[in-house]
Amino acid sequence: MTTWQCVAQCGACCFLDPSERPDLEDYLTPDQLQQYLSLVGDDGWCIHYNAEARNCSIYDTRPEFCRVTPHTFETMFGIAPDDLNEFAIDCCQQHIEDQYGESSPEMERFNQAVGWIDPDLSE
Ligand code: SF4
Ligand code: SF4
Repeated sequence: MTTWQCVAQCGACCFLDPSERPDLEDYLTPDQLQQYLSLVGDDGWCIHYNAEARNCSIYDTRPEFCRVTPHTFETMFGIAPDDLNEFAIDCCQQHIEDQYGESSPEMERFNQAVGWIDPDLSE
């Protein structure tokens, strides 16, 4: 059984460069898109991402689209609450692979935390 959770000192989803996310307009409202773009720093990372601590410096007041909740994922992506777990794990794995690589320590820590087993290795 896998259960999504965010792991400390990852931050892979805080790399916001729009060129990496060409379908932003499909799931953000115009206001959210404006807010999203206002967060993108020159290096593509969110301006609120603390690269040293590898965490969010405005965690308690972070935008709605940064929050992994049944409501946000249903609203943004049309994901039913029952499918949130699997979808969120897949999202994190994609972000982690993009930023740190498929075999990175970050991927290993994430997979271990959520209890994910590579189907290719479990046969
Ligand atoms: S990619 Fe996933 S595990 Fe990493 S910081 Fe974002 S939500 Fe957390
Ligand atoms: S506001 Fe915080 S959680 Fe959202 S992208 Fe920026 S650093 Fe990450």
